[in-house]
Amino acid sequence: MKTFYAEEQKRHDPKAFLSMGMQKPNPEQPERVERLLAGSRAAGSTIHRPASYGLTPIAAVHTPEYIEFLTHIFERWQRMEGASAEVIPNVHPFARNGSYPAGAAGQAGYHMADTACPISAETFDSACWSAWSAVAATEAVMSGEPAAYALCRPPGHHAFADVAGGFCFFNNSAIAAQRLRATASRVAILDVDLHHGNGTQGIFYARPDVLTVSLHADPSRFYPFFWGHADERGEATGLGYNLNLPLARKSGDTEFLEALGHAVSRIRAFAPDALVVALGLDAFEGDPFGGLSVTTSGFARIAEAIAQLRLPTVIVQEGGYLCDALGDNLTAFLTGFSGAN
Ligand SMILES: [Zn+2]
Repeated sequence: MKTFYAEEQKRHDPKAFLSMGMQKPNPEQPERVERLLAGSRAAGSTIHRPASYGLTPIAAVHTPEYIEFLTHIFERWQRMEGASAEVIPNVHPFARNGSYPAGAAGQAGYHMADTACPISAETFDSACWSAWSAVAATEAVMSGEPAAYALCRPPGHHAFADVAGGFCFFNNSAIAAQRLRATASRVAILDVDLHHGNGTQGIFYARPDVLTVSLHADPSRFYPFFWGHADERGEATGLGYNLNLPLARKSGDTEFLEALGHAVSRIRAFAPDALVVALGLDAFEGDPFGGLSVTTSGFARIAEAIAQLRLPTVIVQEGGYLCDALGDNLTAFLTGFSGAN
């Protein structure tokens, strides 16, 4: 299986992160890339640099207002007297029923959901290359590869059409799914990250052509809190095309694989032409977030179960944070997927 990745994706290097009111080092570190590259190579994958695809595939799922905001916000923020080195807003609209402000501080609050996604001089470029890695993997699958892996970093599944959040700027999985739609009439996205893929759900919530399925730690007391509950099923013509499978905290391989069985069954019933796997590795028992207890061999079994769908598959990296087994977990997943496919 080919891996797609560009060096520019490492330049985004967020410093700050607020958790329960405390400032901590941001967990979405460039070092993740090295671990994931090693894991990909250990699975026998070859690394390929994506082409630059411009804004077209990104603009297919994100609003022009948001893309313009991300393009210029770093310079605009720096022009404010006394502003921080990274763009981190602290005022947000509690509802989207007010006005769109003209200034940098207000727009940052409007387009950024939380403090986990600081924007520096390198962020926009890194996020573009991350999205282009997803596009390149998608192109490989559309050209006949049974599967391809996009080493997307920064990750994407918490990004909505016009909101960054949770370390994410452009929604790489959504960009891949939308690209697949050029030739596939129906596409499923299966999100196995520890956290609910709220941005992905939001982008496709009213659409019946992209099924969104997410397995994650129960958001009642876990990020992203406001989405990911079992009663969120889609809206308008998209009603019935979103499935959330929240898991009790610390659930392990058995519980995860049982829920995955439901996910696979729903995807089969949707009869898609292609699949996007939003591959978070933070459900791991040793991940610093500590939300679920999936083991390294569990990732191989998860991959085998997904491969049974026998669909052209784009695997898009989402979360998974620094711990000794991060690379091994990717190796286990990619090896398990290829072995079963
Ligand atoms: Zn996550």
